Amino acid sequence: MSEDGNTVVEIPNPVTVRDLAERIEASPIDIIKQLMANGVMANINQLIDYDTAAIVMEELGFEARPMEAPESEAKEEGEAPRWRQLLEEEPEKSLVTRPPVVTILGHVDHGKTTLLDAIRQTDVAGGEAGGITQHIAAYQIRHNNRPITFLDTPGHAAFTAMRARGAQGADIAVLVVAADDGVMPQTREALAHARAAQVPVLVALNKVDRPNANPDRVKQELADAGLIPDDWDGETMVVPVSAKEKTGIEDLLEAILLVADANQIVANPDGGVFGTVIEAEVDHSRGVVATLLIQNGTLRQGDVILAGDTYGKIRAMFDFQGNPIEEALPSTPVGVLGLSEVPNAGDLFTVMDSEREAKAELSEREDASQAAAQARSRPGRSLEQIFESIQAGEVQELRLVVKADVQGSLEPVTSSIEALETDDVKVNVLHSGTGNVSENDVMLAAASDAVVIGFNVVADTAAQRAAEAEGVDVRLYEVIYRLTEDVEKALKGMLEPESKRVVIGKAEVRAVFHISKVGKVAGCRVVQGELRRNARIAVIRGDETVAEGPVSSLKHEKDDVREVREGFECGVNIRGFSDFEAGDILECFTEEKVPIV
Ligand code: GDP
Repeated sequence: MSEDGNTVVEIPNPVTVRDLAERIEASPIDIIKQLMANGVMANINQLIDYDTAAIVMEELGFEARPMEAPESEAKEEGEAPRWRQLLEEEPEKSLVTRPPVVTILGHVDHGKTTLLDAIRQTDVAGGEAGGITQHIAAYQIRHNNRPITFLDTPGHAAFTAMRARGAQGADIAVLVVAADDGVMPQTREALAHARAAQVPVLVALNKVDRPNANPDRVKQELADAGLIPDDWDGETMVVPVSAKEKTGIEDLLEAILLVADANQIVANPDGGVFGTVIEAEVDHSRGVVATLLIQNGTLRQGDVILAGDTYGKIRAMFDFQGNPIEEALPSTPVGVLGLSEVPNAGDLFTVMDSEREAKAELSEREDASQAAAQARSRPGRSLEQIFESIQAGEVQELRLVVKADVQGSLEPVTSSIEALETDDVKVNVLHSGTGNVSENDVMLAAASDAVVIGFNVVADTAAQRAAEAEGVDVRLYEVIYRLTEDVEKALKGMLEPESKRVVIGKAEVRAVFHISKVGKVAGCRVVQGELRRNARIAVIRGDETVAEGPVSSLKHEKDDVREVREGFECGVNIRGFSDFEAGDILECFTEEKVPIV
């Protein structure tokens, strides 16, 4: 017990939402809700830093203690990536240096996308940018004749999770920090992800061209976050750049290679084949297209791979420029066709001997996870129920999580839903992304009473289970107008009814009593209609309304009563006001909702 009587619980730093929930025996949904209340959008697998976790725990009646994580413990699922452990099984003699894989992380708008574009363009050798036909979520450049792989996962305004999961496949993380803005919440979150994945970090101090850039202040903030700049005798390289003006890019690439040389970035090209899923989506004509990063061994066309919860035989493989290839070595990003379902970004993939073997392995895992799944029943919200709440005037916002098959359809879908917003009911798309509806999407929806909308996608097994357990409405559409029709219907019903004041009675204040513990009470006589306990009262003095508020107590003689009729005496309190005067008129009214037509 702590001094406040809170139970003390040790937690690792950082900690995933799921792990934290288990440690304090709470529902992950409650944790996600508390995080949201504190302005942090997190999914169940997301890592949160110690300070944030401590605040959430305190709100739930626990006191956090930092746990000294032994080396082995930091490698639990969701923390250090599995591929690192697999790599340790390779014979040391077989390991050779491979190109570094770099991920770019940072707060929204600090310039990640611009920097990735600037780096891509500095590479003269790879100058066939115009010829890229198939975009995959990674590319390779050469600097001083050494290849460097960059992960180029799409930006999610509110969620760095996708990108951060990419950190699991990376060897080096470049943390982009805008010199005119400094260390922000997502900067810290990204740093926590990089640390958890045991990835060395260097900082691109971006936007130094801005007149209000203040590199020294940002360096101080970095130092406070535990990243002591090298020119302050620390160990973190901080490279000033301007992604927009394309200055400092060469220095950044140089720094990346220095960090690469200081770390053992190796693989066995002849060993077991495994790596990380960087991104995957469904393409109408080609099926599932996955971007894979090979981290060991040599991947060949025709190989059977098991990736996350899905498997398949590689029908076709192409490099980041869209050229068909037969095989790919470690650190190479490739696009592959042939998986039966969409794996999640960050999933490990391995090559299996046959499809049969992959299937057997998968069903073994499913059995294990089903056994571990706890059936929780919590009433969720369907679109119809939300519709009803909005009709009842309880809700003025329709919250959605939107998933679509490809980026190209995601934008029209979200913008057509958003276009349905009215002045009365807001549409709030909490998260949108490509790929099948996942467990994370459902958890996010459950935590925020949102509905999940899928366009040309399916809900994966884990998502279906979670939706059932949490009572989340997952609506899948294939035709856009059906989707907008449903949402529009819901929104129309959601127009908040206008309320009309209906006066139900009047009373005259005869005397004002002071009663200990209660305060001032108006002693009145009802002169017209009735006074009701569950109504509101306006206090009218002369021509003026001096106060208005809900009735907080209504007594006839000594009894609490629900109403007092004309001709009877009563004692009245209203919430938030007590300066009654003899002669005041109390007008009792209700607010009745009338739907707008
Ligand atoms: P992201 O959200 O981190 O991917 O950020 P973006 O790359 O989309 O950049 C956000 C905004 O900052 C865009 O308007 C960019 O043009 C601008 N920006 C990015 N880098 C720089 C830079 O070095 N200097 C200036 N002045 N603006 C930049």
